[in-house]
Amino acid sequence: MLKGDTLSNVLYIDLTKKDYRIENREDLFNKYLGGTGVGIQLLKENCPPGCDPLGPDNPIIFVVGPLTSFFPLASKTVAMFKSPHTGNLGESHCGGRTAVAIRMAGFGAIVIKGKSDIPIYLSITDNKVVFKNATTLWGMEHNSTTGKVIRENEKDAGLRTIMRIGRAGEKQISYACVTAETYRHFGRLGLGAVFGSKNLKALVASGKRSTSVEDTKKYISVYDEIYNAATESPLMKKYHELGTPENVLPLNKLGGLPTQNLQKSRFEGADQISGEAFAEKYLGRRLACSHCPVACIHIASLREPYEDEPYFYKTSMVCYDYEPIFALGSMLGGTDTKGILKLMDRIESWGLDVMSAGVVLAWVTEAYQKGLITNKETVDLKPEWNDYDTYIKILDNIIDQPNDFYKALGKGSDYASSVYGGKEFSLTFGKNEMPGYHTGPGAHLGFLIGTRHSHLDNAGYSIDQKVLITTKITGEELAKKVIDEEKWRQILTSLAICFFARGIYTEDVVLKALECAGFKLTKEDLKRIGEEIYTEKYKFKFQEGFSLDDYTLPKRIFETETPTGMIDPNYMKEAVEAAKNIIKSKM
Ligand code: SF4
Repeated sequence: MLKGDTLSNVLYIDLTKKDYRIENREDLFNKYLGGTGVGIQLLKENCPPGCDPLGPDNPIIFVVGPLTSFFPLASKTVAMFKSPHTGNLGESHCGGRTAVAIRMAGFGAIVIKGKSDIPIYLSITDNKVVFKNATTLWGMEHNSTTGKVIRENEKDAGLRTIMRIGRAGEKQISYACVTAETYRHFGRLGLGAVFGSKNLKALVASGKRSTSVEDTKKYISVYDEIYNAATESPLMKKYHELGTPENVLPLNKLGGLPTQNLQKSRFEGADQISGEAFAEKYLGRRLACSHCPVACIHIASLREPYEDEPYFYKTSMVCYDYEPIFALGSMLGGTDTKGILKLMDRIESWGLDVMSAGVVLAWVTEAYQKGLITNKETVDLKPEWNDYDTYIKILDNIIDQPNDFYKALGKGSDYASSVYGGKEFSLTFGKNEMPGYHTGPGAHLGFLIGTRHSHLDNAGYSIDQKVLITTKITGEELAKKVIDEEKWRQILTSLAICFFARGIYTEDVVLKALECAGFKLTKEDLKRIGEEIYTEKYKFKFQEGFSLDDYTLPKRIFETETPTGMIDPNYMKEAVEAAKNIIKSKM
C-alpha cells in the first residue's frame, strides 16, 4: 500500500451507543486488496453465526478498492451483509459517488452495527461521524425527497454520496434497495431492509483528501492506457449511446429475452421497448459515476399532464437500464412505455430492487391467471400483462401490506409461491429473482451457483452466447468455466471495478494499476486471492444454513426454448452436480 494512504482505515459505527472508532486494518487490505475480498473478512468478523438478518447484530459493511480515485471506472462500492431475502450472503455493488466519497473521507471500509432507538442518518466527513435525527424523513413518500432534504442540509455538494432508503426499506421488505445519488443502487438482496431494521434512513459521506503516487510517470502511463481503452472502445461507445438497453433487440432476436414470466423467450413488442425506442422518445440526459469517462446512465424524461389542468405538466426523470426494461417490460408482457416508466418511477420512490419487483409481479400475474390467487388475495385487483395501472396498485399494496398475501409478496416470489403454489413458475434461483437472460444452460447454472445468485457473479449467459450456441461442451466443462470466471471476478470486485470495464482491466492491466497503488503482486497471487475469496463466500453461505442440496431450478426454464435450444434436464443435472463437487472440494 502507498505510504500515508488511508485505504486501510476502517470506520466502525455503533448505532445503539451512537459511538464510533477508527482502526487501521492494513492486515486485511494487504492480503485481500479491498471490495469483496476485505468485505467478506469483515463480514466473518462482525456477523455472529445464525444472526437475525433484521436484528441489530447483522453488520452493514461498505468497502472500496485500492484503485478507487486513482483510475477510471474503479467506481464501485461493495456492500456486504447477511441478506434478509435469501438468509445467507448479502453482497451488492453500487456506483455513483459512493466509492470516491468514502475514499476521500479517509476510509477504505465502514462497518455499521447495532440499532438506533430513533430514525437517524449518519453524516461522515473527515474522520468525524455525526448521528442526525431523521424522524421527519421517515415515511416520506418519494425517496428523492429524502435526498433533496439531505442535500440542503449537508455540505460538500458535488463531492458527497447520499445513500438512503425509501418506505420499502423502512417496512423491511426483503428486497428493498439502498439508493445513492438518485439514480444508482445497492439493488439486490435487501440491503434497504437491513438499513430499515436499524432505523438508519441514510448515510452521507464526503471528504477532500488526496493521496500521492510514488512513480508519477508510470502512473500517468497506466492511467492513459486505461482511459484511452475506455474512451476508444466500441463497447463503451455502445454503453454511452444507448446504454445497456441496447441489449433488448439482440437478445430478443436470439430468443433469450424472458417474456411474460418466461412463458416465451421472444417478445413481439420488443421494438417498442428497445434501447432505441426509449432513447428516441424519452432520453433526457446521460450521467456518469465518479471518475468514469463512459457515462452509461440513461435518464428518461417522462412528461405527464396534471388531471383537470390544461397545459400543466409534471416532468419526472427516470433512470432506465436493460434490467428494469426486462423486469417491468418484456417480463410483464408490456409495450406501454409510459406505463413502464411510471412503474419504474414508483419502484424508485418506494426504494425496491427493480428486478425482484418485476419478477414478483410476473409471478402474481400468472398465479392469478391460473386461479392460484383470487380477488380475495389481490383485494379486487386483476393483474393482466401490460396493465401498468394495476401493477402500480399492486406495488403500493406490497408496501402498505393490507393482508397476508401482500405480506408474503413483500418476502419475494420464492416465499409467496411456497404459500400459494406456483413454485414451478416462480423464477427464483437460491431465492433470488432472475435477471433478464434466458440464453441457455450457462445463464441458469450461473444464477444458481453464483455466490449471490446474480448474473454478474459469473456471466454464465455470456458462455451461452459465445460457446454453447455453436459448440457442445460437457456439463462438467460448463461448471468449471462458470466457477473459474466467478473466481476471477472476485479480483475485479475486490478492486471495485465497474464490470463494464472488465475487458479493459485484464490481468496485466490490473497488475500494473495495482503496482501504482503500492501493491506488488503476480498473476499467481491474483489467482490465489480470487480462489480464497470465492471459498470464503461459500463458507459464509454454508455457515448461515445454505446447502448445495437445496439447489433447485424452476421447471419453467425447461419449458421455454433458449438460443441453444430446449434445456436438457439431464445436462443441467450433470452441470449442477459437477459444480457442487468443485465447490465441495474446496471447503
Ligand atoms: S460504465 Fe456506467 S455504471 Fe460503469 S462506472 Fe461508468 S457510468 Fe458507472
